[in-house]
Amino acid sequence: MHPSNLVLGETCLYCFEKKVHQGTLGLDTFESFSKIYHYLPVVSILISLTVFLVVPVSSQPLIISIILLIMMGLSLISSFPHISPTMFAQFKESQETYKNSLQTYNPHTAEFCVNHPQLIAIARCPLCFKPLCTLDFTYGKMGKPLQCQACIKKYMNFRLFPTIYYLLTVIPLGIVGFVSETLAGSTGLSLIFLFIPFIIFFWPLGLFMAKRVSLSQTSPPSGNFY
Ligand SMILES: [Zn+2]
Ligand SMILES: [Zn+2]
Repeated sequence: MHPSNLVLGETCLYCFEKKVHQGTLGLDTFESFSKIYHYLPVVSILISLTVFLVVPVSSQPLIISIILLIMMGLSLISSFPHISPTMFAQFKESQETYKNSLQTYNPHTAEFCVNHPQLIAIARCPLCFKPLCTLDFTYGKMGKPLQCQACIKKYMNFRLFPTIYYLLTVIPLGIVGFVSETLAGSTGLSLIFLFIPFIIFFWPLGLFMAKRVSLSQTSPPSGNFY
């Protein structure tokens, strides 16, 4: 088997099917679940008002914080396709991209890089499955080729606008929690109420950093992988 036909420099495309399959498990369920994302703020406001008006002030902080954690979880999970639509699309399309690549797969011949046809490829990208040369990959610690630069640029993106639905979901609950705590004369849970709205931003921030780090590793540390 020629190295230019191995994914990540180690697995043949046939053996990679399991990983592609695992990556697409539950995506449909996930996609239909993500439809609730835009409705969560309304639910949250209704719950906040109900708790504020019905539950005694002394019990409000605890009840609100439990509801807040549940709503935060629901909102975070359902926000994924909205905040990172390109990443989600990559997961959704990977099965098809994989099948298309298999049709022209000849593992025993050397492939040339699709971007630099004069150079022999060193491996295949695990996302687009194209054979690529040293110039096109990003690299791990041991100089192992990871995803190609084009895929990192294409898929590791985020939109900030959809975070507003998350904020509108957690902030009303946070306000009621904070106010009821102040009224009840304690501050034990205040940190949760104040901190939870910021959690959503760890995701775009994490993606941004990961993308930066990946794209900074654009030449194999040893100079040559093989
Ligand atoms: Zn790629
Ligand atoms: Zn190339």
